Amino acid sequence: AVRVTGVRKSFGRTEILHGIDLTVRAGEVVAVIGPSGSGKSTLLRVLNHLEPVDAGTVHIDGELIGYRLRRDVLYPLPDRVVREQRSRIGFVFQQFNLFPHLTVLDNVTLAPVAAQRRDRREVEREAKALLERVGIGELADAYPRRLSGGQQQRVAIARALAVRPRVILFDEPTSALDPELVGEVLDVIRDLAEDGTALVIVTHEIGFAREVADTVVFLDAGVIVEQGPPAEVLDNPNHPRTRAFLSRVR
Ligand code: ATP
Ligand code: MG
Repeated sequence: AVRVTGVRKSFGRTEILHGIDLTVRAGEVVAVIGPSGSGKSTLLRVLNHLEPVDAGTVHIDGELIGYRLRRDVLYPLPDRVVREQRSRIGFVFQQFNLFPHLTVLDNVTLAPVAAQRRDRREVEREAKALLERVGIGELADAYPRRLSGGQQQRVAIARALAVRPRVILFDEPTSALDPELVGEVLDVIRDLAEDGTALVIVTHEIGFAREVADTVVFLDAGVIVEQGPPAEVLDNPNHPRTRAFLSRVR
């Protein structure tokens, strides 16, 4: 579903991602782990073109994201086209990022109606089913501030699903939650992992990564140091930097 090739990204003169190659197959769950500042959030933002790359390419289902290729030269796509591409990539942030002035239902239906121009009634029907699925069907008419962090994050996940995404990107989806609310959000993600949606999850929850991920990617200082099945990367890492990181977080 996702193919990242040779991606480099700098802020100012500092290169943050030093040539990332990564493939996420349809239905695959990839957990990205690594120290603070290693570039995990930047990598996710590059995948949906919230950050343009300096070199390399991102393809999603074969479609080049953010650019058009002509005679070996990349030309930026118009904003309108980029927004449409981005609208088919779900993104779940650490801080929920719900629109406070919209009801739960309107938060979920906004992108499919506005960016994807789908029929409002059909989208609302689907949105209600998604809210049921994440266990908050009764909250459709509530405003975000009335909800617990766990409920808000479940709205954010329903919103990500509503765009019928090709892949959903999660940036530390549970790290802003009180400990007793983490489980309810992980349960929803676990459920998505089982039904074949491609997921890329940046997480500090090593136990969760071991349980749900098909592939664990260890990113350190802008380089993928090691990637493979959880049983290798988490339980039997090859690289000393992976071992050092894991011994610090466990
Ligand atoms: P954390 O675990 O703390 O969330 P991270 O792995 O997600 O860290 P990033 O947020 O991707 O790390 O940041 C990687 C580096 O890029 C950091 O040094 C950060 O300061 C820098 N950086 C990120 N975004 C910007 C920006 N918009 N402008 C300048 N520097 C940035
Ligand atoms: Mg981050």
